Amino acid sequence: MRGATPPYADLEPRIWRNLLARAAIYHATRTRLSVLCDMVRQPGAVQGAFNDLEIQVMECAAEDVDDETTVSRVVAAWDRALAEKLGLKQLDEAARRLLEELQVLARCASGKDPIHQIFTGVTSLASALYGSYWRPPTLVVSHIRSHPRGALLPTDPYAVSARTPWPGQNDKSAVELLVFCDAFGPAAYAAVPILFIHECVCHVAARQDQVKNDSAFAEGLLDWAAYFFLDMWAGRIDSGLSGAARTHARELRHVLTRRTDTPEGRARQLGHRAAETLLSWFEETYGYGSHDAALRVSILAVKLNQVERPLREKDHFVSRLGAPLPPDLEKVLKGWSENRLDAEALLVAPVPA
Ligand SMILES: [Zn+2]
Repeated sequence: MRGATPPYADLEPRIWRNLLARAAIYHATRTRLSVLCDMVRQPGAVQGAFNDLEIQVMECAAEDVDDETTVSRVVAAWDRALAEKLGLKQLDEAARRLLEELQVLARCASGKDPIHQIFTGVTSLASALYGSYWRPPTLVVSHIRSHPRGALLPTDPYAVSARTPWPGQNDKSAVELLVFCDAFGPAAYAAVPILFIHECVCHVAARQDQVKNDSAFAEGLLDWAAYFFLDMWAGRIDSGLSGAARTHARELRHVLTRRTDTPEGRARQLGHRAAETLLSWFEETYGYGSHDAALRVSILAVKLNQVERPLREKDHFVSRLGAPLPPDLEKVLKGWSENRLDAEALLVAPVPA
């Protein structure tokens, strides 16, 4: 029996089977993923069971068989390992309950690619958000040989990142998921929705002259909006994964915003702060509750992303969003909020050379 060609051209078959087997188990157990992530950090039976899973994944991925066979072999081998753990007399009640639940859920794992399912869910929602500005992206999955931030897994378990190669004037685009497969654990899987949402909300439909990873607009204000949309969309992308997706989007945000030593980190911090200023302004000026105000901020960011103007003008707009707002900016913001002006009017303030 020989394996099928991986659906992603950049992945070697063994790496693909490794990634698929992990993702298939996390997908099947997704309603218990947050508990698994918490318990796997502490030494004990759950950590031991997770180590068993990793060993079985490596073993089964080395065999050149089709996707369905790979996953069913991992499921069967892990089932035996879980049964062994459940036979231990010294097992605390919380660990026993979780291991029993994982055993039942994992038996439903299949060889269908769950990462692509998440991608399809995100792109259909982002396409509805951007309408005619949308550029349908294809998904590329690549293997990286180390952690994307060179971090240690206990402090940063998110051994995965994403990027959108600049689409230029094309109507098509691509989103690339970069995975350090050997360290692709349950927390990294739960962070995949926010990574896709960031790419789709911030970059896929962007209408400007360039990409810059230190843009306070693209990596800051729009990133803030991406987290808002993650909260809104998580249940529609996959209701079973939504709890873990929200928890790990928040955790990943903490990991990333801690880093103010990089240009991206500073851009994120600046843009997020600008978004918070706008949020307060919408609350105070129009008496919105926090959800409605956050929706206005996020829609404004999306509308600005659709304006065909240089990125430096959008970054300049973000740099002016400090409390109190400059009077000329407040005037145009009111004009936009009350449907008298379009988003482009917000960018007309002179940009310093
Ligand atoms: Zn980005």
